[in-house]
Amino acid sequence: MQTFVTRDEISLWRKQLAQDHKKLGFVPTMGALHAGHLSLVEKAAQENDIVLVSIFVNPRQFNQQADLQAYPRTLEADIALLNGVSNVVIFAPTEAEMYPQNLPFEPMDLGEIGSILEGEKRPGHFDGVVHVVHHLFALIQPQKAYFGEKDYQQLAIIRQLNAHYQFGIEIIGCPTKRDPDGLAMSSRNLRLSSSERANALSISRAIRFVQENVGLLSINEAKNEAKNIISQAGLKLDYLEIVDPLSLKNLSNWQAQQICCVAAFCGEVRLIDNMLCESVKLT
Ligand code: AMP
Repeated sequence: MQTFVTRDEISLWRKQLAQDHKKLGFVPTMGALHAGHLSLVEKAAQENDIVLVSIFVNPRQFNQQADLQAYPRTLEADIALLNGVSNVVIFAPTEAEMYPQNLPFEPMDLGEIGSILEGEKRPGHFDGVVHVVHHLFALIQPQKAYFGEKDYQQLAIIRQLNAHYQFGIEIIGCPTKRDPDGLAMSSRNLRLSSSERANALSISRAIRFVQENVGLLSINEAKNEAKNIISQAGLKLDYLEIVDPLSLKNLSNWQAQQICCVAAFCGEVRLIDNMLCESVKLT
């Protein structure tokens, strides 16, 4: 599998692709790849001539040093997994390659969407995401880039970034892949013990409870019950909110569609999840 490490290698390769009129799909990741990542790569492979997967644990988006240190790094296994998909190449830069000194970057104001939910609980996180994705988009210049709805707020911010810096890339949101028992796949799941993993199932259970009670309970009742499901499983809830799918603002009344977003600590491991909750149409 072709694995690039430097910006120069990417630039040369990218020029050749343009000369050959090849369509490039891009999947940015932090590695420790699982079937969720793979679903993005496979979609990108279907829709483009070639797919670049970046693997870079971005220090600037971690607001806790301990979380950065503990983040799983499994490059060999990642390469083996990607070997199963044709026309995929990897970009696995060092930090110095990713952030060369003197590379211009004008931070953008994320507005309110950047300061709620993950933005509120993880100060600086989205600034770090925007910084790295800006540099990756500018270098790689794909026609399409693929992001998971698992990181729903991030996807909204990437769309904003793409418009703000006028990259003109088509941003494709992809559905969340789950284990058969409902747990959203995440690189961080590798850090869970088997009992923690069992407790972590309370997150998807709580969101499904909200899904099933749209319009039946009040939003506050549904939220309180869902929070109880998570706390009773021994997790430390960071937030559980029911928000508008576009603005991500808290709702006090049900709409046709809303997103239930959760972040909770399962032991030391912080997990996030979300699902679309729709009101049942009564006929
Ligand atoms: P990460 O390596 O966690 O930064 O994730 C890289 C990309 O994969 C992001 O766009 C994530 O939203 C996406 N992703 C992570 N987990 C899943 C999942 N379970 N299903 C679908 N996409 C995912």
